[in-house]
Amino acid sequence: MTTFFPIELICPVCGTEFDSQTVGSCGFASKRTDFRPNYWGANPVSHFYHDCPTCGFCAPEKMFDSEIVSKEFIKQIKQMGPLKKTSWEENLTRKIERAMRCLELMKEYKIIEINKFTLANNWINAYWWANDRESELRFANIVLGYFKEVYKQEQVPEGQILEILYLRGEINRRIGNIEKANELFDHVLELAQDLPDQSKIASLAYQQKTDPQEIL
Ligand SMILES: [Zn+2]
Repeated sequence: MTTFFPIELICPVCGTEFDSQTVGSCGFASKRTDFRPNYWGANPVSHFYHDCPTCGFCAPEKMFDSEIVSKEFIKQIKQMGPLKKTSWEENLTRKIERAMRCLELMKEYKIIEINKFTLANNWINAYWWANDRESELRFANIVLGYFKEVYKQEQVPEGQILEILYLRGEINRRIGNIEKANELFDHVLELAQDLPDQSKIASLAYQQKTDPQEIL
């Protein structure tokens, strides 16, 4: 069950004090085959991020402690302006996207240090919870781009190499790049031949190639 509790935040960009709600607890009933959790009860994801009602800065709670002095960064955030309130689903998509834009800018202006693997693992939330096909495709391509790059640069943690290859395959499959998906699933199967402890992910790759399922 998802529970929330109220928090007070001070925006590190414009100094506005505002109330928000953070997640006390949450759990999921199942996962999609692209590892998206299907939460019990209310979807908590919107409350993983907090958006300043004045300037539009949006980030996880811990980033509100950041010291931000870069005038250029502040200018860029203020140019984006506060998020507009629309439907719940649309809000969720735009809020995650905004949090990702802020994260990218915080990296660019060296407010935080974050690598591309972590960026991919953040952007995946935007892809998972996109409420329209255009956004889903756009976010999927960002996630895939980062994962591909970190894979090429051998920066994927060793224990997760096959899992990430599989995930790239599954995201490609879901956005209609079937040929690319199968190429990645085959790569998982090939690498898994020498790794008996990876038989689960190999079976999953085989399943999604031959008889794709929605839920794990
Ligand atoms: Zn602000």
